[in-house]
Amino acid sequence: MYKCFICGEKFLRLNDLTRHIWKYHRDESVICPVCGFKSKNLWGLEYHCSVRKDEEHQAIFVLLRRNSRNITKIPILRYFKKYFEVKNE
Ligand SMILES: [Zn+2]
Ligand SMILES: [Zn+2]
Repeated sequence: MYKCFICGEKFLRLNDLTRHIWKYHRDESVICPVCGFKSKNLWGLEYHCSVRKDEEHQAIFVLLRRNSRNITKIPILRYFKKYFEVKNE
């Protein structure tokens, strides 16, 4: 399962997590799960991740963009695992 890094709600699929984040957290202040950068809304976090070229930020960016086309370019699932995956309880 995948855990929302903002509220902790859990989802079976990454797509559901992405949809949830945009539906419920777009106007909230959010903290970058990679570096702790604080943004006043989700668009700010998306931009923050887009201008950082390290793989971990790019992984968050791809998740936020719901863009699966880029998914093979970087070992993105490794980072999704690190930041979002939780064990089934
Ligand atoms: Zn959430
Ligand atoms: Zn960051």
